[in-house]
Amino acid sequence: MSQIDYQHVLDEITKEVQPLLSQGKVADYIPALAEVEPNQFAIAIHTVDGQTYCAGDCSARFTIQSVSKVMTLTLALQRYGDELWQRVGKEPSGTAFNSLTQLEFEQGIPRNPFINAGAIVTCDALYSRLSAPMHSMLESFRQLSGNAQVVIDKKVANSEYEFRHRNAAMGHLMKSFGNFNNEVDDVLWAYFNFCAIELNCVELAKAYNYLANQGKDANGQEVLSARQNKQLNSLLFTSGLYDAAGDFGYRVGMPGKSGVSGTILAVLPNQFTVAVWAPRLNSYGNSVAGIAALERLSQKLDISIF
Ligand code: GLU
Repeated sequence: MSQIDYQHVLDEITKEVQPLLSQGKVADYIPALAEVEPNQFAIAIHTVDGQTYCAGDCSARFTIQSVSKVMTLTLALQRYGDELWQRVGKEPSGTAFNSLTQLEFEQGIPRNPFINAGAIVTCDALYSRLSAPMHSMLESFRQLSGNAQVVIDKKVANSEYEFRHRNAAMGHLMKSFGNFNNEVDDVLWAYFNFCAIELNCVELAKAYNYLANQGKDANGQEVLSARQNKQLNSLLFTSGLYDAAGDFGYRVGMPGKSGVSGTILAVLPNQFTVAVWAPRLNSYGNSVAGIAALERLSQKLDISIF
């Protein structure tokens, strides 16, 4: 892969997606998210041998939203291993990320850890094992991203908490089925703070590079076992993009996770992680220009996990 001019490819993609930057809508169900300047774009690659490439608004920081769910799951798997799967499933949901009806049908066991209910119950599990969950989460991102100054955007966290009703309903529904151990509002506060962690694309690609590196961080330390890492990537492929995971898999051919701030992280095992950010979303809640950029990347580099 070393012969590939990643920088050139990212620069080209950044030019090509410019017309798409005005398409779609920024998420406004969290009022503080709606304040972002909507036509921004950045894309960064971090390779398993430690090289970084970036194009666009590389230093612009954004809240990572649902991409935090991957770290939540990582920290929970470190502590619970397979026991975690008694509380959350592994199937694609086929419904919106914040669906309540499916949770009712399935007796309070969320379909997978990447829809809201699944991430919230995973947070509940983590909350039971960590004395300072927000500190642990921040420390993980600080260490893995190489930026010791990573912070939480408290304005966004507070805004999410103020408008938490739907997520709170999920928590209470799970509690009514006996699948929730802590106070719903306490767990939600941690969950929203995880979602409001601020990174730029370079930091995001770097922080999650263990996903491309058999579960190991830049120092060769195990974040997840190779088996868990393979499992997590498989779940990302089937469930990482809400109810549009099939379309993303078809177009991009890599496991990925999106967030409503317009960011998407994708993984090419044993090669690199790529993070893209463009705030305007399609009707599934995924970044319009972000998906187009990753599709182009996969075509230009002729890459896929298959
Ligand atoms: N914090 C957002 C929520 O709970 C995350 C949603 C997302 O990025 O999918 O609604």
